[in-house]
Amino acid sequence: MHYFRTSIHLVIPFVISMMCSNLSAQNDRWQINVKYDMDVELNDETHLLKGSQDLIFYNNSPDTIYHLWYHLYLNAFQPGSDMDVRSRFLPDPDSRIGEKISKLKSDEIGYQKILAVSQSSKPLKFYIEGTIMKLDLESPVFPGDSTVIQMQFESQIPVQIRRTGRFNKEGIAYSMSQWYPKLCNYDEHGWHTDPYIAREFYAPWAYFDVKIKLASDYCIAATGYLQNPKECNCNTKSSNQNKYKTWHFITPQVHDFVWAADKEFVHDSFLMKDNRLLFFYYRKEQAYSPTWKLLPPVMDRALDIIEELVGPYPYDSYSFIQGGDGGMEYPMATLITGNRPLVSLVGVAVHEWLHSWFQMLLASNEALYPWMDEGFTAYVEEEVMNMLKREGWIPGSEPAEDPHAETLANFKTFAGSPKEEPLSTHADHFSTNRAYGVGSYVKGALCLHQLRYIMGEKPFWTGLQAYFENWKFKHPNPDDFFRTMEKNSNLELDWFKQYWVGTTKTIDYSISSVTNLNGQTLIELERIGLFPMPVDIALILEDSSVLMCHIPLDLMRGHKNFDNQHVLILNPWHWVQTKYKFEIPVDFTKLKYVVMDTLRMMADLKEENDYWEAEPK
Ligand SMILES: [Zn+2]
Repeated sequence: MHYFRTSIHLVIPFVISMMCSNLSAQNDRWQINVKYDMDVELNDETHLLKGSQDLIFYNNSPDTIYHLWYHLYLNAFQPGSDMDVRSRFLPDPDSRIGEKISKLKSDEIGYQKILAVSQSSKPLKFYIEGTIMKLDLESPVFPGDSTVIQMQFESQIPVQIRRTGRFNKEGIAYSMSQWYPKLCNYDEHGWHTDPYIAREFYAPWAYFDVKIKLASDYCIAATGYLQNPKECNCNTKSSNQNKYKTWHFITPQVHDFVWAADKEFVHDSFLMKDNRLLFFYYRKEQAYSPTWKLLPPVMDRALDIIEELVGPYPYDSYSFIQGGDGGMEYPMATLITGNRPLVSLVGVAVHEWLHSWFQMLLASNEALYPWMDEGFTAYVEEEVMNMLKREGWIPGSEPAEDPHAETLANFKTFAGSPKEEPLSTHADHFSTNRAYGVGSYVKGALCLHQLRYIMGEKPFWTGLQAYFENWKFKHPNPDDFFRTMEKNSNLELDWFKQYWVGTTKTIDYSISSVTNLNGQTLIELERIGLFPMPVDIALILEDSSVLMCHIPLDLMRGHKNFDNQHVLILNPWHWVQTKYKFEIPVDFTKLKYVVMDTLRMMADLKEENDYWEAEPK
């Protein structure tokens, strides 16, 4: 595709067979399914939300279900909660939380009180521990059966601290995420009942039918499709005959439902191709509102780029909503703070929307594999942002020659330090926010970059697209991802997964010597780091011609796909060996440089030993 960087030209032709396997493997893993029917009313004086929830639970698992588990996220916003304690004991807490929860007064905290629960009109016993609730079912749900759980609840919307709450720092009245009793996911690994400490989400696929009653001068933005736009419309001020309005939304298959409400929201719409709509909700009477007016055509173009890189967006609309405390992704919508220059507004909008592909549609368990969401999102974001800059969509910002160079540089400042923890660490259990952040975002992004380096440009992108296409709506795990990449490259990649995800071992290769061997050239290399990788190495001659060589790693059982580039494929480097040497029919006296990984893609921690330069004559 036209936005791929091209490498320097080559002198020796070498034919490489294309190695694209077919992707016939079907991935029919069972999923439980639910439907939420909710009717709620928010009192904007007391900030109390009262409502009912009917949950239909479809047991598509092979197991009989005796209990259901729920998240009651709002209970996290109370002094002494797990989120509060975790934040106060982390050495580098999120500044948005810090000690704030410990200081909340009773009318500022969040809570979710369960008033009654029943199954087929029979009351059920329930047990609440912090943000997790267990329900004992009266009648078990057998495989293939379903049941309906009816619940009455009352919640207090906390002052805005993290993601959810009332009156964020830009004055948005209600940022309503994690606001309803939400069924935990049950999958082939069992129930996932992680207490909420401000990190990740994982939930079953669901349909939502939500009615929200609120004072009639509010505008509501939400996940899903509004069913009564004639009565409920943000841009026509209520004639105020009715004190309240009830907004009705339904969703296609999603795994969460977010909404936000404010009296000052403007609602802009932008019609894209295929009759899809982008919505923008923001406050008009603020200094930054002009940047929101510039956003729609940029996001329209961003969608084209994302769909070409990853795959189609399946819903009919997406909403960018001013709210929350930075940027947070939800199905069909995002809450982002709005006080930003254009480059920052586009950056956060692209990042959060990209989560639609990696979290909202693939929906891996991000508590266990946060890098599969944040890392992959961040990686494609760099591609999309660079393309938008190159095409001039963001005036005043220049494209980078390598959009991933900064990520690589960030990684090098932390990789191999004693604080680094392996990507296999549960997101909630990293010892520092920094280890979580660098691991999930940076090392996660570089997972894709390393695979692109190992597999080659074409199989990498077709692999990523096949991963999305085959695993959307299926909660893939790391093995599903790496297996897809294996099938698309005809390479063994299990070694890479084990090293990259399971360890903090680092990469460092060096050029030990380049010498004259009877007029030809002898090159000796060394693997200094414990992490084995294939090595791309270029010989650059005085006349500027370049000979590209590739040393596969034995564990790959094949070599990188260079498409129609001319590259000399050398014998594999056995991972047990620390040294490797090869002779090459290049006149040593005409050799000017030898350079490892000319595109600087490999996460080799030491750049200075990757070059050799001939003595000046
Ligand atoms: Zn993100």
